[in-house]
Amino acid sequence: MKKLLLLPFIFCGFLAFAQEPAEDHTADSLRHAFGRQQVQNTAIRGSQYADTLDTGNPAVKVVLYDNGTYRYVKDLKASADSTIFTEFWDTRAVNPYKESPDALPDRFSLWIVDSLDTYCCPYQTTVRSKFGYRHGRRHQGVDLPYPKGTPVQVAFDGKVRISDYVGGYGNLVVVRHANGLETFYGHLSERKVSSGDWVSAGDIIGLGGSTGRSTGPHLHFETRYRGAAFDPSWLIDFETGTLRHRLFKIRSWYFNPNQRYVQDVDDEDEIFRTDEEDRIAAEEQAKKEAEARAKAEAAAMKYHTIRSGDTLSGIAKKYHTTVRRLCELNGIKESTVLRVGKRLRVK
Ligand SMILES: [Zn+2]
Repeated sequence: MKKLLLLPFIFCGFLAFAQEPAEDHTADSLRHAFGRQQVQNTAIRGSQYADTLDTGNPAVKVVLYDNGTYRYVKDLKASADSTIFTEFWDTRAVNPYKESPDALPDRFSLWIVDSLDTYCCPYQTTVRSKFGYRHGRRHQGVDLPYPKGTPVQVAFDGKVRISDYVGGYGNLVVVRHANGLETFYGHLSERKVSSGDWVSAGDIIGLGGSTGRSTGPHLHFETRYRGAAFDPSWLIDFETGTLRHRLFKIRSWYFNPNQRYVQDVDDEDEIFRTDEEDRIAAEEQAKKEAEARAKAEAAAMKYHTIRSGDTLSGIAKKYHTTVRRLCELNGIKESTVLRVGKRLRVK
């Protein structure tokens, strides 16, 4: 009976899948469409999942929910670049990457979510303690006031690397995502996942608390790439709960502990420019300047209509210029005969 009930969903699902235009998932094609678009939580919450169905693609499954909704999900186990979840994989060390952030390129891009990946804001609130130096100590993440016992949801799909009690972090969960990014959830009162578990955005990984070096219940949230922490506010607007970028363009200086998110939109435009965009902007600027010069020159042009008795030296004197300049401007010689009624450019 259950199978029969599900049939319409299956059919609708495949119909929708079949009708979808072939998407070109290259970074360039999507950058302009989605690169800077804000993303609300895309994880489905409050409904129980009923069944999972295969599609023609082993890396994509259809998940059916008991409220009649469905969505396509990426099967991370099948689609993940295997090296992301194997290399530098350590279930104890907070930073298993044995390299300095200086080894990272000056700028690079990471896909944070695409049409199949989901996002869930870990907790929508005002950041209490920001990224950067605090009382002479480096603070590698943001502190989000979090009532003790409140479920903590994972931000993106991924695999749990650490679920352990780790010094100052107290109960810590670290999740690695398919793009290489890692998210840290510290001071939990309880951990609900184990190392090696696969998680989807919105899954509950623990409960908020105040374990470790903490003076009150809050979630310590970090974002790291190859071990290097950057201000999570570059990625998530905690006030509104939105993801700032689907395609996240990272500059090496984000990893500098003194650099935190700046909310100046114009600055951001500068920051997020690529080399190609810089080149186009420079070309446009040069074109604008050339046009302005031509316009100014046109506005400054002046003509004299030749009357009977006019001479080049007389005209030059009248317009405070020289005979030579008049010849240059009009492509004539000093010996050229001036014709009455003809216009002569004088400036
Ligand atoms: Zn903290």
